[in-house]
Amino acid sequence: MSIEFELTPKMRKVRDMSRMFAETYLRPYALEAEELCGPHPAFIDACKQFGLGSGGMGAASSISGSKEAPAAGAAKETSSNRTMIVAIEELAWGDPAGVLNMPGPGLGGPPVQFTGTPEQRERFLSIFTPDSFKFGAYALTEPDAGSDAKAIQMTCRKDGDHWVLNGNKFYITNGKKAEWTVVFATLDPTLGRAGQRAFVVEKDTPGFTVPKLEKKMGLRASETAWQSFEDCRVPASNLLGGEAHYEAKAKGGFKTAMKTFDATRPLVAAMAVGIARAAYEIARDWVRERYSLSQHTARYRRVQDKLEWMRTEIETARYLCWKAAWLLDLGRENAKESSMSKAYAGKMVDRVTSAAIEVMGPEGVLRERMVEKLYRDQKVYDIFEGTGQIQRLVISRRLFKDAPRSS
Ligand SMILES: Cc1cc2nc3c(=O)[nH]c(=O)nc-3n(C[C@H](O)[C@H](O)[C@H](O)COP(=O)(O)OP(=O)(O)OC[C@H]3O[C@@H](n4cnc5c(N)ncnc54)[C@H](O)[C@@H]3O)c2cc1C
Repeated sequence: MSIEFELTPKMRKVRDMSRMFAETYLRPYALEAEELCGPHPAFIDACKQFGLGSGGMGAASSISGSKEAPAAGAAKETSSNRTMIVAIEELAWGDPAGVLNMPGPGLGGPPVQFTGTPEQRERFLSIFTPDSFKFGAYALTEPDAGSDAKAIQMTCRKDGDHWVLNGNKFYITNGKKAEWTVVFATLDPTLGRAGQRAFVVEKDTPGFTVPKLEKKMGLRASETAWQSFEDCRVPASNLLGGEAHYEAKAKGGFKTAMKTFDATRPLVAAMAVGIARAAYEIARDWVRERYSLSQHTARYRRVQDKLEWMRTEIETARYLCWKAAWLLDLGRENAKESSMSKAYAGKMVDRVTSAAIEVMGPEGVLRERMVEKLYRDQKVYDIFEGTGQIQRLVISRRLFKDAPRSS
């Protein structure tokens, strides 16, 4: 097994172009976007100008001019997931909410890629053309199910050549503006994992409504919606993978939901790394302005120690993300490493952004200093796509599963 920390020329190109995009079109508009509770017009124009509408890796590769455009989790090219990790860290450095506002299928993309039939992949993914500004979404969480994904209550019932969906989904990113949402429902809640099915619900489907948009502590420029389904009739052709998928694979719906997370948790973790790095750099530059390098006061030494610790924390989380993405690039099992990256980065970003405020004192809480916003934005990184506790449960279960029993 080789260990390689050097970025390939293609990865460096994507990183540099993502950094340029973040510096030019994300960071300068981040505070205004927060007030608008949505993407800034200058950012929307830039996305169209750079042809980022195909989303995900497609967006990163369009920024760099590269032809490589696999979806999250795809193992088409040996560095595609790592390249995406590198790009997302840079973009989140600019504005984490901006990353969630990058056009494309978003979290809805991987399940369509993994489970969709060729016809479904073509139908649902081809709408994301480079010059479009369209979104997809992913709806698993319900009022009483999220961490416990097997407990979803939303029902699906076959009726002729349609399925009828009933229930509610909460906290869905881009859940109002999305052209379609991958929605998880169950034939019968008592069946647990085995009863789950995944559907693509298009936004103008009768019976589908969005009763509420949430107001949040952070990531305010990112849309978080409540979705409601009342006798919502979805064509049978929108059952992801078709009936055959669920006949061939026991728990096919549940596995689709979980496989998505294996691919996307390292990306969420990489966003946390980008946020932490942004806060660290702001604090470091502030220290540079305030302290003369010849100062050897106890206070300066403590600040130096704090910055060193912040940087090491960031680097540790980054390598966990890289390892999880590297396993994915090789097409290998990565559930444990994926959860490790998310669990570590979700807590790390809290510690590091808090330390940045501590270093800067009262200036750290001033809005224009940006660290205050990063501190609010980061809080959700230990919550969405599975809380820290849930990641630790996944890791500990795998530790026992993987360990051979000693005789
Ligand atoms: C901004 C935002 C965007 C989101 N986007 C999406 C999206 O696009 N799609 C989607 O489907 N969902 C989305 N979510 C929902 C999110 O993924 C869930 O809220 C999250 O996974 C927590 O699940 P829950 O709501 O069931 O919380 P709960 O499970 O009720 O969490 C409450 C607390 O209980 C703890 N807990 C729960 N079970 C255990 C256990 N077994 N052991 C120890 N502790 C436990 C949790 O860790 C947490 O601390 C989003 C949430 C937010 C805030």
